[in-house]
Amino acid sequence: MCPFWRRPDEELLSIEEEVKMMNALAGAGVSFMGFEGGEPLLRKDIAEILEESSKRFHTSMVTNGWLLAGKVREIEDYLNFAFVSLDGVGELHDRLRGINGSFQKAIEGIRSASGRIPMAISSTITRENMQQAPDLVNLASDLGVSINFQIAYDYSTADPLSPDRAKLKETIEFLKYQKLAGRPIVNSVEYFDAILNSWYGGEGWRCKPWLTINIDPLGRIVQPCYIINEYSGKSKVWEVDIRALWNSYDWESYETCNKCALSCYLEPSLFSWQNPSMVRERILDNVVSYITGQIG
Ligand code: SF4
Repeated sequence: MCPFWRRPDEELLSIEEEVKMMNALAGAGVSFMGFEGGEPLLRKDIAEILEESSKRFHTSMVTNGWLLAGKVREIEDYLNFAFVSLDGVGELHDRLRGINGSFQKAIEGIRSASGRIPMAISSTITRENMQQAPDLVNLASDLGVSINFQIAYDYSTADPLSPDRAKLKETIEFLKYQKLAGRPIVNSVEYFDAILNSWYGGEGWRCKPWLTINIDPLGRIVQPCYIINEYSGKSKVWEVDIRALWNSYDWESYETCNKCALSCYLEPSLFSWQNPSMVRERILDNVVSYITGQIG
């Protein structure tokens, strides 16, 4: 669904550049770092990168799970959280990924890492898998992990997999009530409410893309968010004054944008210190997991 695999990236950052990037971000006050792909586990030095990250940040990673079973012992000490992407249960996941055996590999990865790294399934709701949302929640529950949902956004360069509007509403309402019923769903109730209120009620959320810094594989800062800029940043993160760049950017014009519901942007946008369940889920649980990781 996402367009990033179409990038013609020539080379990746060296470990020295990764460290320069992390130092720049830590110096600017960043405290959470998430590694996404492509597939982060394809890097042979991934353990070294995660180790460096864990010295500075609460560290998480999204993986397709294929290599997880073989690498878990190498990386478990450096991750506070891991997400394994699943597009469906069984054959549907294999079909959407285009490789038979992908589902089995992802499940093996989850089983091998579960109990070693706090984990969740990450699933993007598309028109192809929407009917499997209940099965995905049940699968997460059976595996003893959580599940985080993203709603597919119709990127300009991607295939039109965005879900049918009316059916999507039913699915979002279903997931919200599953969350309220205590099923292991990572998204907040406010996340589902914000989408329902905006896309179906005309009452938008205030997007705050400045709360998330996105760095492309070449170390460049992507602004205002990777949806609008589609991963084409300009400045290497260690070559700029991040605070000055942030303060000089015209963020205001994006506050009314409700184009995507990517949880990495929407959840921070909705966060409120006045909401005890959000403070617990988003801050306290993460702080505990970070401290546990540091002393564990
Ligand atoms: S809703 Fe926010 S994160 Fe999404 S495209 Fe708009 S500005 Fe970017």
